[in-house]
Amino acid sequence: MTALLEAHGLSKAFGGVQAVQDVSLTVGAGEKVALIGPNGAGKSTLFDMLSGASRPDSGKVLFQGRDVTGLGADRRCRLGIGRTFQVAPVFASLTVRENVEAALLTARNKAFSPFGRLAAESVTPVLEEVGLADRADRPAAALDYANRKRLDFALAVAHRPALLLMDEPTAGTAREDRAEIMGLVDRLVAETGAGLLFTEHDMDVVFGHAERVLVLSRGRVIFDGAPGAARADAEVRAVYLGTGGFHDR
Ligand code: ADP
Ligand code: MG
Repeated sequence: MTALLEAHGLSKAFGGVQAVQDVSLTVGAGEKVALIGPNGAGKSTLFDMLSGASRPDSGKVLFQGRDVTGLGADRRCRLGIGRTFQVAPVFASLTVRENVEAALLTARNKAFSPFGRLAAESVTPVLEEVGLADRADRPAAALDYANRKRLDFALAVAHRPALLLMDEPTAGTAREDRAEIMGLVDRLVAETGAGLLFTEHDMDVVFGHAERVLVLSRGRVIFDGAPGAARADAEVRAVYLGTGGFHDR
């Protein structure tokens, strides 16, 4: 069976730093997978190669069985990959609504311009879904951090991707905002059958939302399996020892 997303032997170095080394993984349709690991483990570097933001030094990425390794982020977006960023790249000078329009137009291979505006029918439901309808006409720059995260999520899911890649979707948000954002994610995955790969520091979020956990350490996958088994794994525990990330409950 072809997985929704497959990575084979991905590697990437920055100067002398081997950020990701020989990483292979799969994500199935409708599957929720967490990618965890300490700071600097290579999570964002791996995400960039999966989304098309950067190219691997070696290895390949298949999406729905198709080799997309040579395709950029916009092409992958149009094929059905949505992503959020660790730091939300919202267009601060545009309104909230215009940001969603721009994302939808990009997914349709059109540029955002005053002449190519989208009908409200396609934008408003997206804003309602993430709870930003009442802020639609405010500049994105005026949003507080939690609402920036909501907008970032809206931009990733506006075109109903088959695969959602989220790099720290809840980073820096308060506990109740975290629960809300992950609730939106769960709903979308349930509704659309999308596959999900996300990184997350909060272990409660990981264990509450992931069906499978991939643990990255120094650029390599050291564990791939059920969340409960990850918590019991000696090597995983050793990686997290002293970081306060992985505690018994
Ligand atoms: P994580 O997201 O797990 O915290 P990163 O993928 O951001 O890890 O980083 C992995 C390693 O690669 C780190 O040692 C980091 O310093 C290095 N690195 C990441 N991006 C760059 C870059 N653009 N230039 C140089 N080094 C980088
Ligand atoms: Mg990161």
